[in-house]
Formats: sequence, structure tokens, C-alpha cells
Amino acid sequence: MKFLCVGCDEVMSFAERQLPGDGTMAAVFTCAKCGREVAMLTNPMETQLVSSLGIRVGGREVPEQPLELVRSELAAGRADAFDDVAPAAPDVRATPGGAGRVEWSDDAQQRLANVPGFVRGMVKRIYTDYARERGIARITPDVMDRARRDLGLEGM
Ligand SMILES: [Zn+2]
Repeated sequence: MKFLCVGCDEVMSFAERQLPGDGTMAAVFTCAKCGREVAMLTNPMETQLVSSLGIRVGGREVPEQPLELVRSELAAGRADAFDDVAPAAPDVRATPGGAGRVEWSDDAQQRLANVPGFVRGMVKRIYTDYARERGIARITPDVMDRARRDLGLEGM
């Protein structure tokens, strides 16, 4: 994982990392050319995700977190790994209506596009599951707000 200073087209170098111990992580990258700083903050779930992927941040791997995620599924690294490519696949949580397919409104998709690529598939899956479990057929920014509140995902 690298950060690129868009203005300079320069790979930013790792400057500082903090793992406060509450599951969150903060990593700072700086551009050697213009001095711009970028901080990456992850909540406990994202830290776990980064950790489970074995992504190296600042030259060292993030220490293994206690909670195991779906490593094998993530290891494939496909952006669409969490997409509903197989609607026929058994899903015990399918709504009584049986539709299963959840639609994303344009502005909800826009918002999803702002999520960093390496967690976007997972975030999308979280919202999709949330909607499906509640029989919500269409995900809007309003649904995303509700899901974040209900699931304690503020900041995602
Ligand atoms: Zn720069």
C-alpha cells in the first residue's frame, strides 16, 4: 500500500505510525518533495482488515489482531470479491420476500466511491447485508447513515 502525492507524482514516504492499543491505527506519510502530510486513520475493524491482509505499513506488518476475518476471501484481492455475483448462492439471511438483490442509488454509489479501495468491497458488503436483513431494497445515503449508527461504524 502506497500513497502518491498527486501534485508531485511522488510516492509519499512513511513518517510515523501509532497503534494506541484500542484497535485504531494512525499512520502518517509525507511527500519528500513538497512536504505535504497525509494521515491514514483506521477504526478497529479496518485495522483488523489491514492486519488480516498482512499489509505492511511503514515497513512493518501490522501486528496480528485477535479477531480473525475472512482471510481466504480477502486474499484473492478482487475488488468485486464481495459483490453479489451469484444471486442463486444460498443465503440463509435472505429476506422472506426472497429478492436478495439490493440496489444502490446513484448518490449512495458516489459515497461508496469515496471509501478507500482496499476496504470498499467489505464496506459495500456490510451495507448490503444490513439492508438485506431489514428488507431494504434500495441503499441510499440515508440508509448508510442509519447502518453506520446501528452498527457503530461512524467514520466509514
Ligand atoms: Zn508533494
